[in-house]
Order: sequence, then C-alpha cells, then structure tokens
Amino acid sequence: MYKGLLFVVSGPSGAGKGTICKQLAKDSNIDLSVSMTTRDPRPFEKDGVSYYFVSEEEFFKVRDKGGFLEYATVYGKHYGTPKDAVMKKLEMGRDVVLEIDIQGALQIRKNYPAGIFIFILPPSMSELRKRITGRGSESEESINLRLGEALKEVSYIDKYDYCVVNGDLSEAVSRVAAIVKAEHSRVSESIYELIEQYRKEL
Ligand code: ADP
Ligand code: 5GP
Repeated sequence: MYKGLLFVVSGPSGAGKGTICKQLAKDSNIDLSVSMTTRDPRPFEKDGVSYYFVSEEEFFKVRDKGGFLEYATVYGKHYGTPKDAVMKKLEMGRDVVLEIDIQGALQIRKNYPAGIFIFILPPSMSELRKRITGRGSESEESINLRLGEALKEVSYIDKYDYCVVNGDLSEAVSRVAAIVKAEHSRVSESIYELIEQYRKEL
C-alpha cells in the first residue's frame, strides 16, 4: 500500500507546467520527480535537477532493465520517469508530481490507477506562442513542432481528472494546490485507522 499520492501533470509545451510544479513543490510538501531525457540541456538547466541528461545508449539501457515507470518519445527526444525513486517516495508517504507528456500519462493511468491526472491549459494559443518564444530555449523549428502538437495534445483532456487554465500564475498554482488538498480529503484506507483510534479511546 503506497501512502503518498501520485500526481501527473501534462499539457502543451509552454503552458506553464514546469513553472507551476516548481512553485507547488516550494509551497508544499510535494516532491518533483526528475526524469531522464536524451534532449540537450537548456542554458541554466542542471543535470540531476531539471533532468538526468543521458545518451540514447544510457536511456535504452535503463529502459531495457525495466527501470522506467513510463517512457515516451516527445518532440523527437526520449523521456522517462525513473521507477525506483518515485516508488520509494510514495512508500515513505511523500506526494510525488510527474510532469510528463500524454503518452506517459496514459501508461501511468493503466499501471497506476490511483494516480491523479491534471491538465494545464494556456489562456490562448497566442499566449502559448508568446510563452514558448519568450522562454528563449527553443529553435524556430522546435517552437513550431511544439505549437503544432498543442491542439492534438489538448484533445486528450478527457483522460484527465482536473484541468487548470494557467492565466494568472498564482491563481493557477493555488488551484493545483487546492486539488492536492482535496485529494487528501478523500475517504480512503488511512481514515479507518483514525476511526479505529476513536473506538479505542471510548
Ligand atoms: P512548460 O513546462 O509547460 O513547457 P514553462 O513552465 O517552461 O512551460 O513556462 C513557459 C514560459 O512561460 C516560461 O518562460 C514561464 O516563465 C512562462 N510562464 C509560465 N506561466 C506563466 C503565466 N501564468 N503567465 C506568464 N508567463 C508564464
Ligand atoms: P521539455 O523538453 O520542454 O522539458 O519537455 C517536453 C515534453 O516532455 C513535455 O510535455 C514534458 O512534460 C514531457 N516530459 C518530461 N519528462 C517526461 C517523462 O519522464 N516522461 C514523459 N512521458 N514525458 C516527459
């Protein structure tokens, strides 16, 4: 029985997933999973913090050993969630957030149905373009690839439990935090321990 909750956050590139998740981790008791990727680091991205940046050979070695909870090819590069690190945290009672694409989210839905799935939307496509361009991390080709996929990605929204439009950043962060809080208030196994405690007290 895992004690922590697993949150999966997806949405088009540039919608603000990373920004929201980082703020959430700063404000609350929640850990961000660090994925492995074969894409090149962006300026200011640190190995082991933003991602584990690895060669294709290293990536496939981990994949072949069954080391990923999920993995996918996104915008032409490979990405995967290291399984052991996430499972250990959940067992310890820590909440974990995976910021992953839709293909990965669908794998988690199948293999870990207790996951909670949140989709982040931009307020408009023009704002999405502005944000991806403004981030200054992508080539023109990569920007167009990411924008071209955005509508296709949004069509998977019905596979998710919640959606949050990231217009005002602090409003979006507080909405995601509210989802985390609500999920902790569900009637679940652990509440019966408390009820058992009541019985002993009487
Ligand atoms: P994603 O992780 O979804 O690809 P990022 O978190 O990298 O997106 O955000 C893309 C860009 O948009 C970043 O430069 C970030 O600072 C900016 N950004 C994120 N959320 C907002 C917001 N609510 N308003 C304005 N800019 C934002
Ligand atoms: P970026 O290159 O902009 O950091 O990420 C590109 C896309 O890959 C985003 O949609 C992001 O959520 C997704 N991604 C990041 N890590 C993983 C992962 O471990 N697995 C999957 N399936 N997607 C990931």
